[in-house]
Amino acid sequence: MNVRIARNSGFCFGVKRAIKIALKTSEVNHEVVTLGPIIHNPQMVAKLESQNIFKVDNIKQIKGRPTIIRSHGVKKEILEELEKENIEIINATCPYVSKTQDYAKSLSEDGYNLIILGDSNHPEVQALRSYVDKKVIIVADADELEDKQFKKVGIISQTTRRVEDLQKLVKKLVPKCHEMRVINTICNATTIRQISTLDLAKESDIMIVVGGKNSSNTKMLAKICKSLVKTYHIETASEIDKMWFKDKQDIGLTAGASTPNWVIVEVYNKMLECVGNINKVDNIEDIPGFKEE
Ligand code: SF4
Repeated sequence: MNVRIARNSGFCFGVKRAIKIALKTSEVNHEVVTLGPIIHNPQMVAKLESQNIFKVDNIKQIKGRPTIIRSHGVKKEILEELEKENIEIINATCPYVSKTQDYAKSLSEDGYNLIILGDSNHPEVQALRSYVDKKVIIVADADELEDKQFKKVGIISQTTRRVEDLQKLVKKLVPKCHEMRVINTICNATTIRQISTLDLAKESDIMIVVGGKNSSNTKMLAKICKSLVKTYHIETASEIDKMWFKDKQDIGLTAGASTPNWVIVEVYNKMLECVGNINKVDNIEDIPGFKEE
């Protein structure tokens, strides 16, 4: 049996950067907080607590502690409130997300009807929307678009969506508007993870997708795999059932951009154990197929 991992699995640039900022801040402060989970991975959030980096859910819970803004940003009003309360802000918003916020603002100011491809309940999309004063249309899929004509349309996307979904939305809008401006704000780290996961899923009898159940990019990887092969989305090795691998020859593993390396290594080793292979690894670099982004 072969157990292989998709190239580029695990932490992306923005997540590595946010965690580095949080750890550096905790070195010079007794306690720091993150407003919402710093990344969508419960195992990493729990680990950071042991380094005095705590998640809070609202401004009242901050109690004067330095506050880290998570990789996918927060609403503009929340930043303004933090400033008003004189709370020390350490902004770990991924630069790609900040750039998308700038695009949302400028498209709206230039008179475009803004359409965002994304999940309206996701914090990144809610933050994006907060930078626009006018009405914004948010669709998770082109099929959700209401049947109406537009004069000027500006389109951007949540950073973790699929290029194909953005193309579908653009195609649907072309006959419905006079002028269109599309900015592809899907992050490259997302796209390369989706492509390498798709490539591996095509060659596998089963796929294991590891990452937060609340992680948008991990859920997208699971969706891609499910369209091709039997797929399980798990957060930790403890969820693995040996029976999943019965009569399977090629076994694939992939992980979201917010999944820590140590979780991926634990999952890989448990998979090996399930198929009777004793060659466990200590590092993600030792897993067949892995290639750093
Ligand atoms: S997925 Fe892309 S946009 Fe999101 S944190 Fe990672 S690098 Fe930044």
